[in-house]
Amino acid sequence: MRYTGTAVSAGVVIGKVYLYERFVSDVSKCPMGTPAEEAAHYLAARDAAQGELETLCQHFTELGDNEKASIFSAHLEILSDETMDEEIQAGISGGESSGPWVIRSVYEQYASMFEQLADPIIRERAVDLRDVCARLLRCWEGLPEQNLSALPEPVIIITHDLVPSDTATLDRNNVLGIVTEIGGSTSHSAIIARSYEIPAVLGVSGIVSQLEDRQEVILDAVDGAILTGFDEEVRSAYEAKRREILRRQAHTKLYIDREPITPDGVRIAVELNIASAEPQNLEYAKYTDGVGLFRSEFLYMGRSALPTEEEQFQAYRKVLMTYGSRPVILRTLDIGGDKPLDCLDIPKEDNPFLGNRALRLCFQHPDMFRTQLRASLRASVYGNLWLMFPMVASMDDIRRAKSCLESAKAELTAEGIPFSPDLKVGIMVEIPAIAFLADQAAREVDFASIGTNDLTQYLTAVDRGNPEVRAYYQTYHPSLFRLIGYVVRSFAAQGKPVGVCGEMGGDPLAAAVLIGLGMRQLSMGAASVASIKQMILSTSCETAKALAETVCGLSTADEVRKYLKEHIDL
Ligand code: PEP
Ligand code: MG
Repeated sequence: MRYTGTAVSAGVVIGKVYLYERFVSDVSKCPMGTPAEEAAHYLAARDAAQGELETLCQHFTELGDNEKASIFSAHLEILSDETMDEEIQAGISGGESSGPWVIRSVYEQYASMFEQLADPIIRERAVDLRDVCARLLRCWEGLPEQNLSALPEPVIIITHDLVPSDTATLDRNNVLGIVTEIGGSTSHSAIIARSYEIPAVLGVSGIVSQLEDRQEVILDAVDGAILTGFDEEVRSAYEAKRREILRRQAHTKLYIDREPITPDGVRIAVELNIASAEPQNLEYAKYTDGVGLFRSEFLYMGRSALPTEEEQFQAYRKVLMTYGSRPVILRTLDIGGDKPLDCLDIPKEDNPFLGNRALRLCFQHPDMFRTQLRASLRASVYGNLWLMFPMVASMDDIRRAKSCLESAKAELTAEGIPFSPDLKVGIMVEIPAIAFLADQAAREVDFASIGTNDLTQYLTAVDRGNPEVRAYYQTYHPSLFRLIGYVVRSFAAQGKPVGVCGEMGGDPLAAAVLIGLGMRQLSMGAASVASIKQMILSTSCETAKALAETVCGLSTADEVRKYLKEHIDL
């Protein structure tokens, strides 16, 4: 069989399937035994959950990861809380509802109670309660624990979707490939797969029910296919294809440490998109001119409590010190949309990409925002920090965000804590409304970075994660290039820097056009650095300008793609 989807991170691998499904309990459908049976069932489930939590605690303590160990020891405390335990046992002995129903009601009652409290630290306990509840209900059903932090062997992960909290704890060394049922080239699974250089095909509808755990498959993340039931001939053809891709990738890597100067002598800044301050994320620091996008939200993911000011400060400082005088663009929390957060209860929305996301959510949670701004300001004295606000839609957003920053500055000043006076403040241009006001925005901020992933989504009215409308998500749409051209000219007119940090910045064909439109800063995932440098070294600005002029005059994305493929020699 051959299943198809979108190839988002190139490579070919042959390996075993690891089916990954997040557990969701439907308590209304659980069969009900006698009160005595339900009570015994509860005690067995509680013991099993306790055993799992103790193992996790011990595992992370042995690894020296006290932070993760403390999360699970807090969960153990919740599980053995006497009041809740008594209420559950009493509810079960009443005989009116099934055990799972009672467990869910008791945990939910306390979780909602915590949520109403003013103290943000106690409020966060609600997330832990729900986490423990889900574990208990899974143990009730006798289902094994599944997560991606400790995989049994090298595998190809097959799942409906990979939420950022999964990718945050991913056992990278054992992931050969990733296949999901939803998501496209700019979804977060795609971004992570590319930054870890893991071959990935996304948006393969219904694949989870078609494959079996540990079945051998071929993942072709060049042409976007998954093959099962293949013979030896097909296997050797794909092994040859794999060798050829690795050879080409090795060739491109020859450009990794070259200085990116066009043949007519223009120096282009090649910057890195990173998701954390972990050493693997910073390996490419030596090949890049700065961090064009630090997706700070990954610090908040896969955990049950918000990161403290100190913790954030340490992470930001580490990146700033690694880059020295080179700029580090730190984006404030961009959560919501396709990025949920375990440590913050974000109500479900019908249209999350058009909803309470990023800056809007920060305005709604001023304490959380203030903590991040304080941590960033404190870190600013250790390097060249540029602070950037995401999802800006209006001049009001700019002014309000800047005023939050001013308040954080005033607080630090009052406390005698230093911060850099040279800190630059900028915005992401990823909503058309602010792109069309770029001339005004450029007067009120120090820089901008164009988020082409969202700009494409909002300009073309296409959900970037929905495979049903994949064909309409057109990053080569001529309108997009025209609009980007306007933004670049508006910032240039004010003498303010403008870059790109969406996935287009790492696509050599699109990036050539961006240079032609006047862009001089491109930021991308590590996997694209070598190929972008290769393109820069072989494409003069004059050629790029001519390409951009033609592209802006074409009518369709297909015409643009065809034209660029014919005219850019890579
Ligand atoms: C973008 O929208 O282009 C971008 C860089 O931000 P994200 O992909 O994190 O939404
Ligand atoms: Mg974005």
